[in-house]
Amino acid sequence: MNFDHRKMRSEFPLLASASGLHYLDNAATSQIHQSALDALVRHETTSRANVQRGSYALAEAASAAYEGARQQVAVFLNAASAEEVVFTSGATAALNLAAASLGALMKPGDEVLISLAEHHSNFLPWQQLKARYGINLRLLPVTAEGRLDLAALPDCVSERCRLIAVTHASNVTGAITDVAAIVAAARRVGARVLLDGAQRVQHGPVDVQALGVDFYACSGHKCFAPGGIGVLWGRAELLAAMPPFMTGGGMVAQVNLQEPVFLDPPRRFEAGTPPIAQAVGLGAAVNWMQGLPWEDIHRHERALAVRLLQGLAAIDGLRLLGPVNMEQRLPVLSFAIEGIHPHDLCQVLGDRGVALRGGHHCARPLLEFLGVEGASRASITFYNDESDIDALLTGLAAAIGLLR
Ligand code: PMP
Repeated sequence: MNFDHRKMRSEFPLLASASGLHYLDNAATSQIHQSALDALVRHETTSRANVQRGSYALAEAASAAYEGARQQVAVFLNAASAEEVVFTSGATAALNLAAASLGALMKPGDEVLISLAEHHSNFLPWQQLKARYGINLRLLPVTAEGRLDLAALPDCVSERCRLIAVTHASNVTGAITDVAAIVAAARRVGARVLLDGAQRVQHGPVDVQALGVDFYACSGHKCFAPGGIGVLWGRAELLAAMPPFMTGGGMVAQVNLQEPVFLDPPRRFEAGTPPIAQAVGLGAAVNWMQGLPWEDIHRHERALAVRLLQGLAAIDGLRLLGPVNMEQRLPVLSFAIEGIHPHDLCQVLGDRGVALRGGHHCARPLLEFLGVEGASRASITFYNDESDIDALLTGLAAAIGLLR
């Protein structure tokens, strides 16, 4: 194996300096990698200026760094060009941008299909389109395992469907979406496909062209980069036809008292001063990720997930949410324990240095369908090791003893 998780862990400053921390909340926010932090600090201390405005050397350096980051993200996503990469403040902002801008191009009675497994960020922005444009929101059901129910696609994708917007991987069940089936269903009626990749990007480079989708949204803070930066990728010809979401400086070619002329994408969608250093940090993070031995990493993550699954299976009254087949899911494991509230459980675990997320995970429709009010989620990434899993299992036994 080319992958040494101890060395990897030492490259994350927070983990390297925190003793007794078992960080298993990576689906909420991953830790920042040294290369991303270095790039951010270097930018702020050597190239800090506004972008695309000044004509002095420092401003040119800032613009070059910002555009360089765009190129690095384009490589990570295998976008056809850097111009297809729009920087936003995060996945939520990217999804809101897509919904508002695509919604403005739709007609009353048009349909958007999302799934029951969506994070609220890929639910509420589309739901808003009903009131604003008379657009109907349709829901793809999920199976008992929380996977998108592909058998229901023919019933859910009508001739009026303009867009299918679904998660690439669930933040609750970890279930990975069969994108090919979604794309095929969309193409049959000429609909577009958007993927919410917020969870997926942490687990390696993405190939948007091979996936065959039209839009992809993600956040930097979930892939070892700074917070406050995200991406909406879109096919060039589709972005070119979309109106801006926000207006202001930096996105307009001509302003007069009648009709403004907006710049071409991506700048049309980046009104105001963007999060420049954060973008530079994201560029460094994805550039670093690009060179990692992903097969070995996935083997390591999966072994940890299986170790955890085996431990969880031995706990009385524990229900695991999501697919049992590890090939079908990310190492994101949510579970509910009879008679114990996830907030209490996570509090007791937190006191022992084990960081888990408990609650509804901003996915209330999914939890309701699965018949649980809340769940505790352990999300594993490559810097975790056996000691994290064992601390969680020991902590769970202690917490159950205390709370039951
Ligand atoms: N979609 C999914 C699947 C997520 O897990 C999250 C973050 N929890 C988001 C969207 C929103 O991401 P952000 O909070 O970074 O905007």
